[in-house]
Amino acid sequence: MIHSFKLVETPGPTTTTTITRTRTNMKREADRLESYNGVWSKDFPVDPAALAKVGFYFMGPNDRVQCAFCHDVIEGWQRGDCPLVRHKRLNAECSMVL
Ligand SMILES: [Zn+2]
Repeated sequence: MIHSFKLVETPGPTTTTTITRTRTNMKREADRLESYNGVWSKDFPVDPAALAKVGFYFMGPNDRVQCAFCHDVIEGWQRGDCPLVRHKRLNAECSMVL
């Protein structure tokens, strides 16, 4: 049996995968640090305190974090990564790393 397939292009805007989650005001370091509580795995090679210090709070899944100031997202942390250096590389304009 021969089926004929018709390619249907779905119109519409391209899917945006960026999740903008507005939590409580993450501009405070203590709030950001708290966001890692219970969700940050000990296997992740970066210290939550170091992340919170340079503006990042936990976003998830996994080791994904977001800057409370420039809203840039970083994940895939490697052993020896410096949160400040990675933040600067991502967005040198961010007020948190200036
Ligand atoms: Zn930033």
